[in-house]
Amino acid sequence: MSRFISNRFSSFDAYIPGEQPSDTEYIKLNTNESPFQLPDSITRAVSSETGKLRLYPNSDGTRLVGKLAKLYEVSPENVMIGNGSDELLAFSFHAFFEKGVVFPDITYGFYPVYAKLYNVPYKEIPLRDDLSVDVGDYTGIGSNVIIANPNAPTGIALEIDDVEKIVKGNPGSIIVVDEAYIDFGGKSVVELTQRYDNLLVIHTFSKSRSLAGARLGFAIGPAPVIEDLVKMKYSFNPYNVNRLTQIMGEAAIDEEDYFIEKRREIVETREYTAKQLKEKGFLFTNSSANFLFGKHPDISGFDFYSKLKDMGILVRQWNKPRISDYVRITIGTKEQMDVLVTAAEKILAEMGDI
Ligand code: PMP
Repeated sequence: MSRFISNRFSSFDAYIPGEQPSDTEYIKLNTNESPFQLPDSITRAVSSETGKLRLYPNSDGTRLVGKLAKLYEVSPENVMIGNGSDELLAFSFHAFFEKGVVFPDITYGFYPVYAKLYNVPYKEIPLRDDLSVDVGDYTGIGSNVIIANPNAPTGIALEIDDVEKIVKGNPGSIIVVDEAYIDFGGKSVVELTQRYDNLLVIHTFSKSRSLAGARLGFAIGPAPVIEDLVKMKYSFNPYNVNRLTQIMGEAAIDEEDYFIEKRREIVETREYTAKQLKEKGFLFTNSSANFLFGKHPDISGFDFYSKLKDMGILVRQWNKPRISDYVRITIGTKEQMDVLVTAAEKILAEMGDI
């Protein structure tokens, strides 16, 4: 840290992303990326755009916004794109949560960081013992809410009716639903944004469209809410989504059938992996995401994570109250998951467990 940093950031804890190692070839199951390559059409679209890189991109991503609006059956004024959904989440904290926000005690680790960054007062509401959200905790509380659905890292999804109760129950506040993992089995509330003026939904291309490296997210909400987010963008970085990313996003929407098939494969592999590991004594939450969140009664989360890492497999583990016994395992290809299951078996056998 330099001696020039502003006082309020001198003891500020930034978000710590999952490991992105460049040294060894790990089987990387730690940051919920897709294991699937992009279709060729996307790479071709990028090549055709490189000749235009001397020019700034379209600051509103008009063509991509149009395609998203069509796909989600809303109008373009209901859509905005961002540099990853992280950026749209940051804009939301900055734009809407001046009076405060609530979110679960176990959820996406960026929420408390954004709250501190933007001086947003926040309250963490404990999940139930089984790590599910108690919707009653969020209805009629008269507070802004941000909720990941499915939640991360638990993977547990809320039903549409439950989200609607939260939205309806806090008419004077805005409810932001982070649907980063919605395409793996949850039910999106995008449709509700047409009926409620206090609901904003945020999506990403990073998970179900294999584009984590391109940094692309989008928000869908009532036109005035989107207008507010756009204002944040124009006060920060008007060209927030670069040309190559915009063109990749457009090409990805044109390949929706390919991605639907890949999501189906992920869900199938998730259920297959859960079954294999449950047979070895693992306990999992009911995940509707592209990851499993679980623990084994005979090994700590950290020991399991470390032993897997020694064997060339990266998963994610948090040294946090209530979840330190757990690991989060991203669903890779079936072959990768077979390697993981064999490694888990070996670890347990070495402990004399099997
Ligand atoms: N929301 C949740 C719940 C996430 O887990 C992530 C991934 N770290 C994000 C948002 C951000 O995704 P991205 O910025 O890649 O769109």
